[in-house]
Order: sequence, then structure tokens, then C-alpha cells
Amino acid sequence: MNTTTASPNDGSIDVVIVGAGPIGLATACALAHHGVRFRILERAHGISGESKGHNVIARAQELLHAIGVRDVLAEKGYHAPFTQFLLDQAPLARLDTSGSPSPFGPVLFSNQGVMEQVLTDVLTERGIQVEYGREVLDIREGDDDVSMVIASVDGDGNRTGREETVTCRYLVGADGAAGTVRKAVGLDYELQDFPGRALRQIDGKLSWRRPTKPDTAFFFLFPHGFSGILPVWEGNHRIFLLESSDAMPQRDPTREEMVARAREVTGDDTLEIEDPTWFSYREFSHGVSPGYAKERVFLVGDAGHRTLPIGGQGMNAGFLDASGIAWRLGMTIAGAAGPAVLASYGEERHGAHAALGKQQVRGFEQLMRRNALADDVIGKVAGVVPGIGSYVFGGSDLGEIEVAYPDSALSEDLFSRLNLKRRSAARAGERAPDARILTATGDTATLFDFIYNPNGHSWGWRLLLLDGGDRGSQAALKGAADLIADVAWVHPLLVIADVTTSSSSSGIDAIHDLDGTVHDAFGMATKAAIVLIRPDGHIAFRAPGDAGQALKDYVHRVAASSPN
Ligand SMILES: Cc1cc2nc3c(=O)[nH]c(=O)nc-3n(C[C@H](O)[C@H](O)[C@H](O)COP(=O)(O)OP(=O)(O)OC[C@H]3O[C@@H](n4cnc5c(N)ncnc54)[C@H](O)[C@@H]3O)c2cc1C
Repeated sequence: MNTTTASPNDGSIDVVIVGAGPIGLATACALAHHGVRFRILERAHGISGESKGHNVIARAQELLHAIGVRDVLAEKGYHAPFTQFLLDQAPLARLDTSGSPSPFGPVLFSNQGVMEQVLTDVLTERGIQVEYGREVLDIREGDDDVSMVIASVDGDGNRTGREETVTCRYLVGADGAAGTVRKAVGLDYELQDFPGRALRQIDGKLSWRRPTKPDTAFFFLFPHGFSGILPVWEGNHRIFLLESSDAMPQRDPTREEMVARAREVTGDDTLEIEDPTWFSYREFSHGVSPGYAKERVFLVGDAGHRTLPIGGQGMNAGFLDASGIAWRLGMTIAGAAGPAVLASYGEERHGAHAALGKQQVRGFEQLMRRNALADDVIGKVAGVVPGIGSYVFGGSDLGEIEVAYPDSALSEDLFSRLNLKRRSAARAGERAPDARILTATGDTATLFDFIYNPNGHSWGWRLLLLDGGDRGSQAALKGAADLIADVAWVHPLLVIADVTTSSSSSGIDAIHDLDGTVHDAFGMATKAAIVLIRPDGHIAFRAPGDAGQALKDYVHRVAASSPN
């Protein structure tokens, strides 16, 4: 994280975040990382402390790592690489995410309240206070700013004192499913219900015949229902039951009710859950906002998307929103971004949430439609990692690693789609892959260390110049870097696979790709290439090594008219 501290509340604020749930807090941490001056307003008088979303998946961890908060979250979370599926109590498949293409494959299991506290502590350390007891009532968008009416409220939500009008340049609505911001700017949506189904949950100390080591998530498919037993921070486990709302009384379950039903579902009559810390009863509705941006107002997290509890992805998708809006605001407020940068947020994240919504509905309907035919399908796909994930959760990419923006106005790819050799290589819009690099000193490094925060602290873009193992390509690559030398936010890095080249002779920052792992990861073992990567690790521009002019055109299209 950089050391710039967001300014105190001195009336000259660039951004206001409405809501300090996990996504508002993550957005605040990200803006602080990018040196943006902001305020964060929260209606409640402290963090919610509820357990709710308790898993942080691979892509969310990557992006939280990029803003310097993943490791502090990981100190209060269990790393669970294993997922065990059981069909009618019989083991079906045991999946291991250790081999994931992410450095953060294992899911981090914590507790939403714990995560909210950790993120709040990060902000406090940086001198930023969440303004509790402050409710945003209404919003007005102007040509150059956004103003909002704010009231102070007590712990019961009653207004105290006079209303106040606050003005800022940009507003981030992180105000959850109720969504005052969304409604005020005309981005509201109708919820779709799934009547007759409910999710019941309990957290507490688990004992049963199976291991309680917090490295495994257990999922049980049973007739017309789905259950999970998952680690939760502080030595707890969560039991969830997703089935008919009539299966038990329609309210928060009791400990005894959950134990009795979990014993039936798991077939384990020794199962106990003691010292419960959290209960929940929830019926289902879902919906996605028709847009994630309106002029100077942006939605993040549940404010834009009421998700279904399929694959534990609701909060995680929100972390991707937080990252996505923060770097854009950082770059725009610094005067470096043209309008396309901020404009791309809404289209990209709305598309991602709409796709996630469809995937969750598919998984939900499949889960609830158990019959002999469905069981046969489950049995057949059980041994195939993407198969079982797709069947149970509606999609195989539970780590959200494949979330991509190929149609974004920020994505430009000059390699032909028809080239068979490179068809599997990451294209513009996709997440740039990681690779282990053996350095000339014999140390290993990860490419991600070079991709994220390439200027050492914040929202710079990394330009990888891959020589394709051909010393002869390096002059054109250096020429491409020279063409955009006036653009301070692009940080070139020559990646040298040609063993005869000395890195010190390149004239620009360089690393040796001794084993060709970086070139292989980009599908460029024998081909020189230019790959420009955004601050969130997505490939912005990809072209052959001699396409320096096209790179220049791209950068000047994206940059502010007078790049600094
Ligand atoms: C029972 C349950 C289980 C869940 N399990 C999972 C899971 O396993 N995995 C997962 O990824 N997700 C899960 N979720 C979803 C997850 O909890 C949400 O995605 C997450 O809380 C969204 O965070 P948020 O910050 O967007 O919104 P919220 O957490 O709702 O925070 C919004 C904040 O905005 C404040 N606010 C609202 N209006 C205003 C206003 N006008 N002015 C000022 N402040 C305002 C609210 O007080 C609140 O603090 C679960 C949810 C529930 C209910």
C-alpha cells in the first residue's frame, strides 16, 4: 500500500462512499491505496458483525492483494484447498484448488464481521475514520459534481440534528441491497423470487465423524436439497441447509433443529454443533441493476446485485467491483485518464454481474431439480472438476478467475482469433496469467509482482514487451516503448527469453524469462508481443512486437488529452 493518506473531511473531497459494509470498506481501502481523497458514510453505528459472506475466492484475493489488504485478511482466515462433494451421503468427488492458476487458489474462510473489522482497522491505521450514524437521504447529479442530503441518525435509525448537503466529484453507492443510491439515480430493478425455498444457517463448534480440520468444504446433495459444512473463523464451522421452506419452521432455526436435520442429511448421528454464534433464515430473491454507473455515480456490491447463495459469490463479486472502480477513480482524479476509462466501469461490471446472475439461477434450478436423471448426470460429471462445479453451482469458475471484458471499450487485441497456436492464450480483456520466473540470481519471482503496482505503489499500467526468444525483435519492442515514453503511467518491462541478451544492455527495465514460463503463459513462446496490462491485471492491449504505432494510438485513446 502507498503512504498517501486520504484527506480529512475538509469539504474538498473527490469521492464519497455511501455504506461501510465489506464492499464499501474494501472500496475505501482501494481508494486510500490509490491516494484518493474520500469520505465514507455509514448509517449504522458500527460494523454489522454478522457472519454472512465468509469465503474469499481466488480472484478476489488477487485484487485485495494488489491493494495491500489480502495478507491482513488472511491472518484471520483458514486456507481451504479441498472441496468434498457427497451424493446421498456417498463420497462423490474431492477437488483440490492447490493446482489453480492463481497464487491464491485455496479459498480463505473467515467471517464477514471479522473481515469488516480488519478492513476498518486498515483504514484507521491510515488515519481514515468511517463516519458512522450518517445516512444519505437523496442524491442530485450536476454536470461537474454530485450533491447529497445527509442526516445524522441514532442507533435506532431516528434522525438527530439538521440535514446537511455534501458535494463531491464522484459518488460510490455501496449501500447494499436496499439501495438508496441506486433508486435515486434511476438504476433500480425488480427482484425475482424463488418461492418455497429457504437457506438456514448456523455457525458454532462442530464435532462429527469426518475431520474438522479447517482445510475442507463439504457439500452434501440430498433429495431436493443441498447442504454444506464449511470452516468459519475462530474454530467454528457453518452448517447450511438449502431446501424447502417447509422443511422446518420459517424463522431463524434453533441449534437443536439444525443438528437434527444435519444428522439426517449427512447420515452422521454423532454430529453436534455447540456454542452457536450465528443463526440465519433467508428466502430467495435475486436481481441485477440495469446499469452500474450513471454519470458520476457508481454502484458496487449488493447495491447493484442481489445474488443467490450459489457458490458463495455475492460478496466476492463485490470485491471485484471495489477494485474496478477504485483504480479508475484514482487515474481519473490524477488527471491521467480519458473519459473511456471511467465509462468502461459500468459496462464491464454490469456484464459480469448479469452473467453471474444467470449462472447462479442455472445452478439453483439444477440443485433443486433432483431426480434419477439428474443424479445420473451428477455421477457422470463427478470426477471432472469443471463438470461437478458447473452442475452444482451453474458454472465452473468459482474463483472468478475467468471473469473477462473482451467487449470493453478498453480491450483491443490485434492477434487473429484464427491463429490455432495462440487460441488458448489470454486475449485482451482477460486476466493476465501469473507465471513463476527464475531470475538470473537463481531466485524465483512471480510475474504478478511485476504486473500489479508497477510503479511500486498504485494504479500504473504494466507494458510487457515479450521478445519471443528472438534478440532481433528487441529493437522494435524498445521502439514501441519509446513511442509512449511521454505517458508516465505506462511502465515498460522487457521480458527477455533470448539467452544471449544481457538485461543491463536493454536500456529499459528488463527481466530474464530463463525457462520461458512468461512467454508460455501468454502463448508467445516464439513470437514477439506487446501486452499492456491494466492496474486490475486485465489485458488492455495485445499485439505483435512490431505494432508500436497501434500501441501508441491505443494509449492516447485511453489517456487524458494531455497525459501527465
Ligand atoms: C445469510 C447470508 C449469507 C451470505 N453468505 C454469503 C457467502 O457465503 N459468500 C458471499 O460471497 N456472500 C454471502 N452473502 C452475501 C454478502 O453478505 C453480501 O454480498 C455482502 O454483505 C455485500 O456487502 P455490501 O458492502 O455490498 O453490502 P452490505 O453488507 O449490505 O452493506 C451496506 C451498508 O450500507 C449501509 N447503508 C445502507 N443505506 C445507507 C444510506 N442511505 N446511507 C448510509 N449508509 C447506508 C448499511 O447500513 C450497510 O452497512 C450472504 C448474505 C446473507 C444475508
